[in-house]
Amino acid sequence: MSRSRFEHVLRVEETAIKLAQQFDADQEKASIAALLHDYAKEASHKRMRDVIIQENMDLEMLDYGGSIWHGPIGAVWAEREIGVTDTDILEAIAEHTVGAPEMNVISQIVFVADYIEPGRDHDAVHQARKKAKKSLKKAIQFILKETIIHLANHKKAIYPKTIQTYNAWCQK
Ligand code: GDP
Ligand code: FE
Ligand code: FE
Repeated sequence: MSRSRFEHVLRVEETAIKLAQQFDADQEKASIAALLHDYAKEASHKRMRDVIIQENMDLEMLDYGGSIWHGPIGAVWAEREIGVTDTDILEAIAEHTVGAPEMNVISQIVFVADYIEPGRDHDAVHQARKKAKKSLKKAIQFILKETIIHLANHKKAIYPKTIQTYNAWCQK
C-alpha cells in the first residue's frame, strides 16, 4: 500500500492497542485487526467488483460506491492470503467502515480507532476522542451519527446496512 495509507494503518494500530488496554480487550488481536483493516483499500474497483460477484457477497454493495467494499473484501483476503482464522479479527476487518448491529469488542475498537487515529483532525474527531475516553458504545453511537450526517451533507447514497447499524446502536 501507499506510504500515506501505511502510516494511517500504523496510527490506527497504535490507537487500537491503547483502546484495548483501556477497555481490557486482547491487545494482540486489536493490533492484528488494525494492521489488516485497510488491506484491500487500494485494490482496483474492477477487481473488487469481480470479487463481490464471485464470492456471493451482498450485491447491493455495488450500488453504494467503492468505499464500502474494502472491508468485507479485506476480510476474505486476510483469511486466504495471510491465513487469519480468528473470527473476531476477520469480523473487525469486514465491519470497519459500516459497522454492524452486533460487533465483537475488537471490531468496536477498530471501528473507533479508524475514526479517531491522531492523523485525523476535524471537530467531530475531537468529540469522538472525548467519547472514547469514557465509553466505546458512546463513541460508536457518535461516529455512526456523524457518518450519516456527513454522507447526507455530501449527497451520498447511504448503504442500508449503515442505517440498520445506526438504528441498532441507537437502541443500545
Ligand atoms: P478509511 O478506509 O480509513 O478511509 O476509512 P473507512 O473504511 O471508514 O471508509 C470511509 C469511507 O467510506 C468514507 O469515504 C465514507 O464516505 C464511506 N462510506 C461509509 N459508509 C458509507 C455509506 O453508507 N454509503 C456510502 N456511499 N459511503 C460510505
Ligand atoms: Fe477503511
Ligand atoms: Fe482506515
